[in-house]
Amino acid sequence: MQLIILDRDGVINEDSDEFIKSPSEWQPIRGSLEAIARLHRAGWHVVVATNQSGIARKLFDLDTLVRIHETMLHRVIESGGMIEAVFFCPHGPDDGCNCRKPKPGMFLDIAQRLHTDLQGVPAIGDSLRDIEAAKIAGATPFLVKTGKGFGTVSNPELDPEVAVFDDLYSVVDHLLNTATRHTDKSYVD
Ligand SMILES: [Mg+2]
Ligand SMILES: [Zn+2]
Repeated sequence: MQLIILDRDGVINEDSDEFIKSPSEWQPIRGSLEAIARLHRAGWHVVVATNQSGIARKLFDLDTLVRIHETMLHRVIESGGMIEAVFFCPHGPDDGCNCRKPKPGMFLDIAQRLHTDLQGVPAIGDSLRDIEAAKIAGATPFLVKTGKGFGTVSNPELDPEVAVFDDLYSVVDHLLNTATRHTDKSYVD
């Protein structure tokens, strides 16, 4: 099973310092829906792991988050893609939970629920905390320059080994091309 874990805000949809508080504020980043569709067509399982502290901050409630995710899923399906599951952390920075990235809780839950380990699983994020969580969980982090990513790229704390791409579309393009090359090679061998 080829699994990929995506952050939501700043990777799939435009981020906002004011938080995404309603379905109408959820606006896809150019190319992201097409990227998810390409993954789906290539047989990948797409799962989202997203910090949603707006819940703890009482900026929106759980019902609204569900409606936002329904909107996202609707747009993804309409574009020919699929998101298998959305894992979210509703807690705030001071709640001491184990799911808010950079903690690896959501990644570990994904591994457990899908009965897989995360070795080599690409995890795409725009923030340092996405990269950290992925690394702790044993996944392979990729940074995109959309959302907060433009600032993250120049953060001195960023591990220089982490691969950086312009956006989700470019990462997916890279992953699918790499996968194709590996397949070709196994034929030759
Ligand atoms: Mg993000
Ligand atoms: Zn949490």
